Amino acid sequence: KEGKRNKLLEVNKEAAKYFYYQLRSQKGSIGYRYLADRQLSDETMKKFGLGFANVSSNDLVQYLRSKGYRDELIQEAGLASFDEKYGIHDKFWNRVIFPIQDINHRVVGFGGRVMGDAKPKYLNSPETMIFDKSRNLYGLNFARTSRQSNIILCEGYMDVIAMHQAGFTQAVASLGTAFTAGQANLLRRYTEEVLLAYDSDGAGVNAGLRAISILKEVDLSGKVLNLEPYKDPDEFIQNLGTEAFRQRMDEAENSFFFELRIMEKEYNLKDPESKTKFHREIAKKLCGFPEEVERENYIEAVADKYNVGFDNLRKLVTTYAAQTG
Ligand code: ATP
Ligand code: MN
Ligand code: MN
Ligand code: MN
Repeated sequence: KEGKRNKLLEVNKEAAKYFYYQLRSQKGSIGYRYLADRQLSDETMKKFGLGFANVSSNDLVQYLRSKGYRDELIQEAGLASFDEKYGIHDKFWNRVIFPIQDINHRVVGFGGRVMGDAKPKYLNSPETMIFDKSRNLYGLNFARTSRQSNIILCEGYMDVIAMHQAGFTQAVASLGTAFTAGQANLLRRYTEEVLLAYDSDGAGVNAGLRAISILKEVDLSGKVLNLEPYKDPDEFIQNLGTEAFRQRMDEAENSFFFELRIMEKEYNLKDPESKTKFHREIAKKLCGFPEEVERENYIEAVADKYNVGFDNLRKLVTTYAAQTG
């Protein structure tokens, strides 16, 4: 089994090398131009080992065979699939390639992006014996040694890369899939504070809310970065630059208040009945702080922010706390 894992790592490494050289070849110039147009420097492309999969859909398989790898292994690594009509063929073709590395810089999978608007926009390696998506974070191999007081968690490849290029080398991505407890535990080994920088669209906000509760479960504190009016960290940095991004980091919102701000949208605070319901929901949420000092501090902050009487709010919290034991 250990032998098989090593074999898979080996074939992935060979594939990563192949993609890497293709990006620098004549055939790959379209991929290189795509990445350069997205403002990635040559140095950045190197750091992340970015590559290119050719238009023809059999080049990688041919190459790996020529290096002595068997078709079964190539398929098991998720680099090729078999179908009755076309036989064995490359999984990735005509895409720029993002190798996915584990914390020891070993390539465990790949992501590939189309260079235009075709679908699917991204294609990712399947899970394999060496690639457990729920326990991997893109960029963590670099972020773990970044010596920053926090880790920035975002959605995508390009976000991580753009942030690293701008000097925020503590950025990692959950790669579109839902953030998991396994990933939260992984983060806890390296930091005490997570700055959430998910996309500012509806999907990103919902993913952020789920991430906050998962982080809470492993006792990690989360803060939320406001990327408005841009959609994600990559676009933000592209448009407003590094210093503006750093400022947004400094202004990152306490995750409890972020949750309240989202909750608030469901109520009409001009209507006393709706407003009361909102305050009840806040009180229930405040019960989630078991430590008294912390709870008091939050009650005080909420009372201040939402214009509720401190004593009344505290009474309400106490009532709910008694009910839920
Ligand atoms: P780009 O900036 O290149 O357009 P993005 O990262 O902003 O990409 P999103 O749509 O925000 O794209 O997706 C975030 C992440 O989710 C991607 O980086 C990728 O890891 C993953 N992802 C997106 N679309 C798909 C897809 N169709 N299949 C699998 N994973 C996807
Ligand atoms: Mn998104
Ligand atoms: Mn993007
Ligand atoms: Mn995005």
